[in-house]
Amino acid sequence: VVVERVPLIAGNWKMNLDHLQAIALVQKLSWSLKDVKHDYGTVEVAVFPPFTDLRSVQTLLAADRLALRLGAQDVSPNAPGAFTGDVAASFLSKLGADYVIVGHSERRQGHGEDDATVAAKARAAAAAGIAPLICVGETAEDRAASGAAAVPLAQLDVALSSLEAGAEFVVAYEPVWAIGSGEPASPEQAQEVIGELRARVRQSHGDDAAARTRLLYGGSVTSQNVAAFLRQPDIDGALVGGASLDADEFSRIVQFKK
Ligand code: PGA
Repeated sequence: VVVERVPLIAGNWKMNLDHLQAIALVQKLSWSLKDVKHDYGTVEVAVFPPFTDLRSVQTLLAADRLALRLGAQDVSPNAPGAFTGDVAASFLSKLGADYVIVGHSERRQGHGEDDATVAAKARAAAAAGIAPLICVGETAEDRAASGAAAVPLAQLDVALSSLEAGAEFVVAYEPVWAIGSGEPASPEQAQEVIGELRARVRQSHGDDAAARTRLLYGGSVTSQNVAAFLRQPDIDGALVGGASLDADEFSRIVQFKK
């Protein structure tokens, strides 16, 4: 199956920007992207603000009909009910969220989320019509012990086992040592692991899913290095942390030239 995959550039704001700062950033972004913003044929752009910003950003996007997609950074695996502090997937879909990040290493490490939890979150998102953006990646210790691909593949297997055939999802390969370190993986290193991840998508969900699913690289992506990643055959975009907080830098990233 040959499918043209539209690159996805995703800005993970992490716990940065209150809702007023979020409005300011999206307004700047929409100005810088005014010429590319309606062109999903070229690139799809999504922002992932904190929960408290989602409503403000969504209102802005709807009012301006900006072609930015909206995502959340986390989701509860549960249906609405007695889960203090959690946010249900159905609430996110009501807000027009297209994506939700699951399994980011900052949640696996800082909040003790295991593969089963990540899988349950991915399933809850998909059931609400939101595409989970499943993050996988190895620590420096994992890499020394078992090579680059073993941990990401194992993490992906569990997440995929929770998703039905036909479910839309995105995978982000984010080596933990590359996140926020200023030391990205090389494009070749990233391609090697991401190629294996795509093969795993093929095994579990078939040729069509493998051809359609976007696989991203994340970890110290900047406007200087993004194009080299996108030139790799299996890399379909980037999950950008720090560099997504600056409107000028993020819009340069979005306008990468292969
Ligand atoms: P970074 O973060 O771009 O700041 O390295 C990426 C991420 O954690 O998604």
